[in-house]
Amino acid sequence: MPAAMVRIWLKWEMACPMSEYCELINPQTMTATLLKGGEVVTQYKVERCDNCETLQRLDEFGYQKHLSGIKILWFCGACR
Ligand SMILES: [Zn+2]
Repeated sequence: MPAAMVRIWLKWEMACPMSEYCELINPQTMTATLLKGGEVVTQYKVERCDNCETLQRLDEFGYQKHLSGIKILWFCGACR
């Protein structure tokens, strides 16, 4: 594991109670990691909602498309 990654991981562990579910979002890679008891349960992509500007789990249904099919905006579940 590269040194930078170890540092991030250590920071995550400190922010994360060992016995509980914990969602960690890395804004650099736009990836969320779900941990339980310090173990990785799953990882998924996140996206910034263009309405409320929070980072939320990405799903394809949130894309607001132009008539030509180009994705112009993404809205989270609460904003659709
Ligand atoms: Zn939103």
